[in-house]
Amino acid sequence: MATELTFGKRWSQDRYRVAEPMARHTSWRTGGVADVWFRPATREDLLAFLVDLPLETPVHWIGLGSNLLVRDGGVRGVVISVQDALAGIEDLGGGRVAAGAGLPCTILARHCVRRKLGPAEFFAGIPGTVGGALAMNAGAFGGETWQQVETVEVVDVTGAVHTRTPAEYSIGYRQVDGPAGEWFLGACFSFSENYDTSMEKIKALINERRVKQPLGLPSCGSVFRNPPGDYAARLIEAAGVKGYAVGGAVVSDKHANFIINRDNATATDIE
Ligand SMILES: Cc1cc2nc3c(=O)[nH]c(=O)nc-3n(C[C@H](O)[C@H](O)[C@H](O)COP(=O)(O)OP(=O)(O)OC[C@H]3O[C@@H](n4cnc5c(N)ncnc54)[C@H](O)[C@@H]3O)c2cc1C
Repeated sequence: MATELTFGKRWSQDRYRVAEPMARHTSWRTGGVADVWFRPATREDLLAFLVDLPLETPVHWIGLGSNLLVRDGGVRGVVISVQDALAGIEDLGGGRVAAGAGLPCTILARHCVRRKLGPAEFFAGIPGTVGGALAMNAGAFGGETWQQVETVEVVDVTGAVHTRTPAEYSIGYRQVDGPAGEWFLGACFSFSENYDTSMEKIKALINERRVKQPLGLPSCGSVFRNPPGDYAARLIEAAGVKGYAVGGAVVSDKHANFIINRDNATATDIE
């Protein structure tokens, strides 16, 4: 039964949509419809929406959808995208940078490199938002998001805003557990100043990836976490399933831990 939110009528159709196909918003390019999809223009609109939202409505946040498999049955409740409302970035001095949850990680990386702050190059390898990186403890090239976090700003279901420190979270490899019913509005990152870095370094890291990974094809990047002491891709390749297909989904020939949506794959094909 789809959620009906009559108050949603006050938002324009490009910001608020009913029965929105999530395939439009995920890098796997598949998945069912969200009952309601909301992309506020401003932080004020976002907070007003949360205040109005009936408390029992399921709420889901989405960044760039680069780590999401939305099942074919879709998503009940509301999916919130903060790419416009929370895309700010600001230098606070002393190597500290405030970034909104909707800011693409690639922009954070370039911003820091230009100002000789680091380590931040690894953010250029993450095709998601700061909010997604905080939720996943995303990492690349040996760096991890939460290693650089000083504080995060979060909002709860009632629209109340809190500032939290990393000590309030349990943070692991691609895993973050914190207070329930809260979402990231942004973070204050702390970097070293006068850091030895350059755009060339970022380009070299990205090129290295391009050689090893099927970038540009619909995927979520690596599907499985690496087990201790081994690599998921090595194990999958050793199992002989490179190129194995189910419907329109196929295990990449280039990188065994990538599942590609080759030909209109359903989420079930991928799963
Ligand atoms: C080609 C490719 C390469 C990749 N390489 C890497 C890599 O090297 N390292 C790596 O770590 N990941 C990698 N990924 C996976 C993905 O980019 C990261 O997990 C990224 O952090 C997800 O960010 P997103 O904005 O796309 O989040 P989404 O996929 O939109 O969401 C992921 C999760 O975060 C939650 N979330 C999103 N925003 C918020 C918020 N503001 N508050 C609370 N929860 C939120 C969502 O609800 C969801 O549970 C790759 C993906 C692709 C497609």
